[in-house]
Amino acid sequence: MVSILAAIEQAARKHPAKTAYQVDQVILTYSDLWHFSDRVAHSIMKLGLQRQQPIIVYGHMSPFQIVAFLGAVKAGHPYIPVDSSIPSERLQTIIAASDAKLLLSTEPLHTNISIPVTAVEDMIAQPSNEPVQPSCWVRDEEIYYIIYTSGSTGKPKGVQITASNLASFVTWMQENFPIQESSVFLNQAPYSFDLSVMDLYPALVGGHTLHAITQEQIANPKDLFDSLAGSNSTVWTSTPSFAKMCLMNKEWNQDLMPALTTFLFCGEVLPPSVVKEIMQRFPHAGIYNLYGPTETTVAVSYVKVTEELVDQFEQLPIGPLSNPNISLLEDGEIVISGPTVSAGYLKAPELTAKSFQLLNGKRMYKTGDLGYEKDGYLFFSGRKDYQIKLHGYRLETEEIEKQIGNLPPVSDCVVLPIVKDDEIVSLSTYVVLQEPLTDSAFKMTKQLKSALSDYLPSYMIPKTFKYVEALPLNPNGKVDRKRLAAWETV
Ligand code: AMP
Repeated sequence: MVSILAAIEQAARKHPAKTAYQVDQVILTYSDLWHFSDRVAHSIMKLGLQRQQPIIVYGHMSPFQIVAFLGAVKAGHPYIPVDSSIPSERLQTIIAASDAKLLLSTEPLHTNISIPVTAVEDMIAQPSNEPVQPSCWVRDEEIYYIIYTSGSTGKPKGVQITASNLASFVTWMQENFPIQESSVFLNQAPYSFDLSVMDLYPALVGGHTLHAITQEQIANPKDLFDSLAGSNSTVWTSTPSFAKMCLMNKEWNQDLMPALTTFLFCGEVLPPSVVKEIMQRFPHAGIYNLYGPTETTVAVSYVKVTEELVDQFEQLPIGPLSNPNISLLEDGEIVISGPTVSAGYLKAPELTAKSFQLLNGKRMYKTGDLGYEKDGYLFFSGRKDYQIKLHGYRLETEEIEKQIGNLPPVSDCVVLPIVKDDEIVSLSTYVVLQEPLTDSAFKMTKQLKSALSDYLPSYMIPKTFKYVEALPLNPNGKVDRKRLAAWETV
């Protein structure tokens, strides 16, 4: 099994001047990545933090974030990647929940937070290239990173990934996908999402180049397509939603990205219509549908999507049946075991005990996903709970409900996914107010949305708000979501 840091060190020795990371015309070489991260590690070690105390790394697609990730783990600490797009209240919640004692930042923080903040740039300013001893590095079953994901309790939960989880995942990637020498991996996902791990570590461990695109570029199609055209990318990693967005522009094809040979999709249902279109636009590229939750380190199974497969099934499989690490419970729930199963949620033993179990000596994660087997393949058929994927983002509608319920004018609410052509396209919420509306519903919605944006990232804020006197109940006395969903389709 690879040692992540040892492999990156080897790449830095072999080709120090090679580009490890590029974003928006900024380039970080392997030599800089290695030496800068040593400097960050030395600065951290001087602070005398307890080993394995998590460190928050804050920013968006900056090369210094990658430097800070490696600096933290070289000093023996897991990092928590936090994208700068999240509201400050959510950042505070993560700080409190994780008990982090340091935040490394790659951009100015416009809010006061309760722990010391240091700019990564300041840490790498000292001109010393003294290496950090490998005996200090995060190793084996120690925690390497923690990713916070939406939680049904109303607060995000921190998934702890160990050094050996990550090494197993990277080894699996190297063994299963055709990654040529000197590849360029495209990274679309902010580092706070584990999809980014799918390109970050296979790229660095293999001595390849990572080409990142920013949210700003994504919001501006001309910049996005200029960046894609100039990237020389060979491996595309994204959610299907992002590919769908690119497909809206006719320019996105093999002429724009002639080096592209491999598409890796993960994180949500890959619609056959998207695959068919990509096959036409990129006739020489291979397309893979990968499946897995953050709790089992990015992905644990995949299928190569061929034309025959698209013709054979209405919905694409997420893997073959022959995966020793995947099994189905009686009710169809997908359970994952094996070396990539996380160490559980940080400081949340009850949540951990609910989803992570030891069965016959094997550590398992109950995914909450439902699956079924057909013709030798495993298929995904939905969720057991209220977790959803909206435009590629993982959300617990219960977390949104709790946040809306905390707003002073609100007495009760329910958040529902709105489905169109088998796909969740937006969120709608039914709200019962403490006091009857005196002003317009439009004004109230504006007020609630604005208040929510202090706590939730924009992708978690429902598009429509509807005000009702009471929520309909089913015979068990629970909110009748089915009836509400039927109202939506009327
Ligand atoms: P995340 O932790 O954000 O990676 O989200 C994990 C969840 O995304 C899984 O539990 C599934 O519900 C869903 N998911 C991941 N990959 C796929 C896929 N290929 N097809 C369908 N759903 C997927």
